[in-house]
Amino acid sequence: MGNGFVCPRCGNSDPRYIGYKKGASYCRRCLVFQGEEAVFPPSHPKQVKLSLGYRLSKEQQELSNRILFNFQRGVDTLVYAVCGSGKTEISYGVIGYAMSKGMKVAFALPRRDVVIELYHRLHEAFPLNKFVAVYGGHSADLVGDCIVLTTHQLYRYPDCFDLIIMDEVDAFPFKGSELLEAMLERSLKGRLIMMSATPSKALVKRFKGAGKEILTLHTRFHKHPIPVPRLELGPRPLLFLSLVRKLRRYGKVGKPCFVFVPTVELSESLYRKLAGICAKGDYVSSKRVGRSDIIDRFKKGGYRYLVTTAVLERGITVKDLQVIVYRADEAIYDAAALIQIAGRAGRKKDAPDGEVTFLAQKETEGIRDAILEIRHCNAFL
Ligand SMILES: [Zn+2]
Repeated sequence: MGNGFVCPRCGNSDPRYIGYKKGASYCRRCLVFQGEEAVFPPSHPKQVKLSLGYRLSKEQQELSNRILFNFQRGVDTLVYAVCGSGKTEISYGVIGYAMSKGMKVAFALPRRDVVIELYHRLHEAFPLNKFVAVYGGHSADLVGDCIVLTTHQLYRYPDCFDLIIMDEVDAFPFKGSELLEAMLERSLKGRLIMMSATPSKALVKRFKGAGKEILTLHTRFHKHPIPVPRLELGPRPLLFLSLVRKLRRYGKVGKPCFVFVPTVELSESLYRKLAGICAKGDYVSSKRVGRSDIIDRFKKGGYRYLVTTAVLERGITVKDLQVIVYRADEAIYDAAALIQIAGRAGRKKDAPDGEVTFLAQKETEGIRDAILEIRHCNAFL
């Protein structure tokens, strides 16, 4: 069976994922990627004004120029930028250029909260242009000068983009997803720029050879090292005790703390266990109602600690913040995620000495790579 049917959407030809209905073949692999597709009006050059409010560092500016140069000469670029080195900003040059030529531009990211955050940043940086954010449940408007979207939503733009920038390519769910890869290939008409803090060997290989270039940005924007995480290994009950001890110690000296947990369920259940022992805490997750109020209160010093899922991984800066990852050996925590989390600590100039602790039953590849990568990164400062 299979009859040589190749799915026009995702390229699947595996008969196990091919169904038959009324004598016609259809693909079951990409069934979830169905919905309205974008229709762009005829393109024309746009007026573009970049207003950043700050200057790029010398390294950022050089890379920004190189990426633009590559785009103009038809070369795909992988940007290997470690640990919060300000890699988003180095793509603004090429985004502005492509928009000014009336080209179709997309910025794709694996997760919706990051899409929303970036959408606001781009909107501020390019006040004259229309950006649209497209993600699951938010797809009424599909057309603008630049589309900021989750990788899942690329299926709405077949054979469309002159430029796709993709960040966090080594993060779940894009990493290792053949289907999302296929959707990327399908929507890409022109050049590709990928960015990663922890590029896999496969990704590096993809950008070797003619018509491609790998660039590295090693300088962290704040010029402060990320605290090297300390790994504490032990059985669960001991890890819990260690967590309690740390929260009490931080509480005494008035240092706020994020406790990262792998699941929504655990954010609540762990907090319930802690609540009677460690005062002045709370928990947040994507499911928690009123979470922005809780976060606001945390920033104002209303709590000593928050138990949180990855929703607080990025974008929030708190003075003197300490970071604990509880059950850091769970599969969801690959090196990229752990580095991102560790980068939450010590981000303010006046308190660059946050502590980061990984509590785990065993050392995983992700834990080991994250610690090595952060050491490596700090060595460049
Ligand atoms: Zn398909």
